[in-house]
Amino acid sequence: MTIRTRFAPSPTGYLHVGGARTALFSWLYARKHGGRFVLRIEDTDLERSSIESVNAILEGMTWLGLDYDEGPFYQTQRFDRYEEVIAQLLEQGDAYYCYCSKQELEDMREQQRANKEKPRYDGRCRHRTAPIEGVQPVIRFKNPTQGSVIVHDVVKGDVEFNNTELDDLIIARPDGSPTYNLTVVVDDLDMGMTHVIRGDDHLNNSPRQINIFKALGAEPPVFAHVPMILGDDGARLSKRHGAVSVMSYRDQGYLPEALLNYLVRLGWSHGDQEIFTLDEMISHFDIENVNRAASSFNTDKLLWLNQQYIKASSADHIAHHLSWHMGQLDIDPTQGPELSKVVALQQERAKTLVEMAANSTYFYRDVDTYDEKAARKNLTIDSIDVLQDMLERLAALPEWTAELIHAQIKSCSEARELGMGKIAQPIRVAITGNTISPPLDQTLELFGNQRTISAITRAIDWIKDRAE
Ligand code: GLU
Repeated sequence: MTIRTRFAPSPTGYLHVGGARTALFSWLYARKHGGRFVLRIEDTDLERSSIESVNAILEGMTWLGLDYDEGPFYQTQRFDRYEEVIAQLLEQGDAYYCYCSKQELEDMREQQRANKEKPRYDGRCRHRTAPIEGVQPVIRFKNPTQGSVIVHDVVKGDVEFNNTELDDLIIARPDGSPTYNLTVVVDDLDMGMTHVIRGDDHLNNSPRQINIFKALGAEPPVFAHVPMILGDDGARLSKRHGAVSVMSYRDQGYLPEALLNYLVRLGWSHGDQEIFTLDEMISHFDIENVNRAASSFNTDKLLWLNQQYIKASSADHIAHHLSWHMGQLDIDPTQGPELSKVVALQQERAKTLVEMAANSTYFYRDVDTYDEKAARKNLTIDSIDVLQDMLERLAALPEWTAELIHAQIKSCSEARELGMGKIAQPIRVAITGNTISPPLDQTLELFGNQRTISAITRAIDWIKDRAE
């Protein structure tokens, strides 16, 4: 049997971390078993769905690298099929028209509450023999009235629902459009889903869906309902907690692998391993090891993981992602040193790509202002001599290498009986505008001969201008 899983978002907003984790679990399960992963856009709620949301979801999936083997399928393109199945259920006697008006339903619930019963549809239209003039009916599924349904959930264990608890749900609205519980069953059936992995907010829908599967003579898929994600205050993760959109993590400078690694550990574990390559995630993942309890989002841990990934990934890979952040700063990374070489210098010193980009701008754009404090301390009248000396030494270098640059900083410091820092720091401020950068010799090598000479010259002129 080929394992088939799906991710079935409703396009009513961006791809949020909860959805991304569900997608990841489904994707991992399919990949682990050499199966197929399907993307289905559940866009039947025309009022709440939007093309912008569809695009945001697709963008999020692409950024995370969660590639799908089939789809995206759009439910709005499958209305004929849903109508066909609804007609079949009517024909079989497993569905019926319901003409109850709003008022009638209201009165019924009122009565039930007065009798201390749980408000639910009592199935009165099951026995109605003639349509009611002028009423546009809905169609309801005839849920079994006896026995129970057991959802054999891989995460939650067996969960039993009494059929008497499940009323006859509406499967088509007055305008004939199908509802969620119907479309999801038709699609899971037609698309051959073997495993449905989704948020546990859908657990209560599963017995209803199982009954529809049975009415259609089909075996339901295996269900796995994944507990929700909480914010660090214990409440359900929401906008209130800050970033919940997957793309906002890109914007904040996270690598997609770091977010995936974070999400896979959020509610799943493999011993006490924290860092997983994608291949390890695929080979170790198992739904059985998904926690039953909800898990809390912890931004500090995500940040820590991101840093580990930045340190351990190839410079080319990081450069691929960093390039977008440079663009955000209006920098064209092709106009300067190779970005991967800049990355190699910065990898050890950045927690996010936003930080790395901000600290790398001077490689591509001459600094136009010096940090005030840095300049006050390092670009002084007294430093003109050092800068001038180094300017001459560097201009005379036969080759522009970090080794030779380093040797000149060293011999200048010896000749002047000054610490190396006293030589390096004014140059650093001249080049970067500030006092922090990777080792100066390597920075200058990458920065280039000509640009170094002109940056030091500019700094000397700047000091002189101010002294006048
Ligand atoms: N479209 C549903 C949602 O976004 C998910 C349906 C499912 O996975 O069965 O919540």
